[in-house]
Amino acid sequence: MRLFAPLRRGLLAALLLAPALLSAQDRPLSLWERQARDLLKELVEINTTLTTGNSVTAAEAMAKHMRAAGFPSEDVVVVENAPRKGNLIVRFRGRNTARKPILLLSHIDVVEANPADWTLPPFQFIEKDGNFYGRGVADDKDEGAIHLTILLRMKAEGIVPDRDLIVALTADEEGGPANGVDWILKNRPELLAAEYALNEGGGGRVENGRRIANEVQASEKKVANFILETTNTGGHSSQPRPDNAIYQLAIALDRVGKYQFPVRLNAVTREYFRRQATISGGEVGRAMTRIVANEKDADAARLISRDPANNSRLRTSCVATMLEGGHAMNALPQRARATINCRILPDETTEQVRAQLARTIADTGVKILIERAAEDSPPSPLTPELLRTIEEASTELFPGIPVVPTMSTGATDGRFLRVAGIPVYGVSGLFYDTPNAHGMNERAEARAFYDGLEFMYRLVRKLSAGPGV
Ligand SMILES: [Zn+2]
Repeated sequence: MRLFAPLRRGLLAALLLAPALLSAQDRPLSLWERQARDLLKELVEINTTLTTGNSVTAAEAMAKHMRAAGFPSEDVVVVENAPRKGNLIVRFRGRNTARKPILLLSHIDVVEANPADWTLPPFQFIEKDGNFYGRGVADDKDEGAIHLTILLRMKAEGIVPDRDLIVALTADEEGGPANGVDWILKNRPELLAAEYALNEGGGGRVENGRRIANEVQASEKKVANFILETTNTGGHSSQPRPDNAIYQLAIALDRVGKYQFPVRLNAVTREYFRRQATISGGEVGRAMTRIVANEKDADAARLISRDPANNSRLRTSCVATMLEGGHAMNALPQRARATINCRILPDETTEQVRAQLARTIADTGVKILIERAAEDSPPSPLTPELLRTIEEASTELFPGIPVVPTMSTGATDGRFLRVAGIPVYGVSGLFYDTPNAHGMNERAEARAFYDGLEFMYRLVRKLSAGPGV
């Protein structure tokens, strides 16, 4: 059987790939669709995980294509900010150096993928039934391949943007010690200096197979971790006492679980709920309209909060995520600890949240420590001009689908840029159905990928066309 394996694999690959190209497409792929797919395939097949991957190899592989297409060597930079950590930064020179560049950002690293957990090989690009499979096809090698293809296409078409366009594929977004964006901003900030950046974090929302909204992320919540801890002299478990570290912690956790931070909207979430009201409709839609008019409307907040994602958009949230306590089955616990993970609204501080949690657990004998303070992440102003241009491109490709500004409840690398004064917008036009980024057999619909490519190409063209073009 071993002898036959390579042959069978080859045959299987041929069977999987050949019909898929026909069934995924009603027409043959365009030159640029093929280009983007080829870059995506190459990226996926280079392992860039934290533990066993190497993003320098991936950055170098992409750099080779850009140089071969005529981008001068000095404009195709690979930065190795740590061993095995590679970042690619390509600059496409524009005609007007007075205008600050636009940065197209994606990350080249991927979440771990243990082949034993997958039924498909994670580092092999497979196209089957109109889907791409492989680690990174939906997060975030798809966007890297799309951004690079936009530069290749504009150059081949002889289009000169009105300002520099920068494409950056960076390391360690998913975790790890050597975040590429952070490092470059600290050590070579000129490489990423831009008027604003387009990043992951936005994209199409699909429900029941229908496109619902093209979301533009303009803001994201911040992350902080707190430790609730209580200690006790302990003793023999045959002689319990009223004071007990585990019981005290349980009381404190119960209070944290019941506490709700107040509703606080900002410019982005107000616009989100205003537009989402029409999409949702019904009782919840009406509640959204009411909360925009009056954020103290508790009944509206209750209706909206039934959806955990919308609840998290309304307010700061804190939740217990880890628990430890005691040291022996027959001893009174000397210590009990819990981790509280908080997602903080952009304009609130770690200290405000700590103080609120401290008030919530007052008199329980449990103390609160900051394990990780939130990094600042100011919202990016969604200028009418930018929003209008995104809407224009979106209407061309996805007519009738509203563009909706959002605040992510998770965090991206955008936070480093925002703190450095570069506004960041998550926009991709990628309408993936049932996205499973970070999951097993990571998947992306080929059609959605090609539509996202065309959307981003048109958007970048419009944004860099300059006045009167
Ligand atoms: Zn990502």
